[in-house]
Amino acid sequence: MFKQSVFIKSAANKSGWIDDQIPEVCFVGRSNVGKSSFINTLANNKKLAKVANTPGKTRLLNFFDINNSSFRLVDAPGYGYARISNDMKIEFGIMMEEYLTTRPNLKVVCMLVDLRHKPTNDDIQMYDFLKANEIPVLMVGTKLDKLKKNEYVKNEKLIKETLHFNSSDIFVKVSNLDKLNIKESYEALIRLLEV
Ligand code: GDP
Repeated sequence: MFKQSVFIKSAANKSGWIDDQIPEVCFVGRSNVGKSSFINTLANNKKLAKVANTPGKTRLLNFFDINNSSFRLVDAPGYGYARISNDMKIEFGIMMEEYLTTRPNLKVVCMLVDLRHKPTNDDIQMYDFLKANEIPVLMVGTKLDKLKKNEYVKNEKLIKETLHFNSSDIFVKVSNLDKLNIKESYEALIRLLEV
């Protein structure tokens, strides 16, 4: 788990990004997948990323300093929320594309999927985009506590098949509720960041 974590700032566009050499991991996933909960669990701070803020509303990248500037966590808005306007979807796409393709600090993307469900078209598009841009991915399957073993084994296979999961990426299954595999996720992240 993180030794230290602190919110730095939100940015609506490139001018708000931080100009230095500190490596970044960007967290992406569908609204409600458990991204805020996972960040809070990693940080052991229930309030770091706001859990249950209106899904899909914020169009900002949120920057957090981790382990006294050892790296930064960049929390992206959840995608796939049906009730946001097309303009907002386009805005989200432009902002994410710019960040993911031009940010030299970005070393790895942590992408979250719900272990109970087959990935959606949004998930497939996101993963395709990350792979087309050769960005290493730590895939985190959430809500492990809601499934029996035979179910999560079957679903992990389905998720990997649907996404054409690349064997060079890492897949972990977690429960934020029961704190399962949180240490493993953190260690995988540190390895990918090489910090
Ligand atoms: P976000 O929209 O991706 O940031 O998702 P949240 O972290 O706000 O979580 C969405 C909902 O899923 C909340 O009700 C959480 O309590 C719940 N949740 C998140 N992670 C888990 C998990 O690992 N297990 C279970 N059972 N519920 C979870």
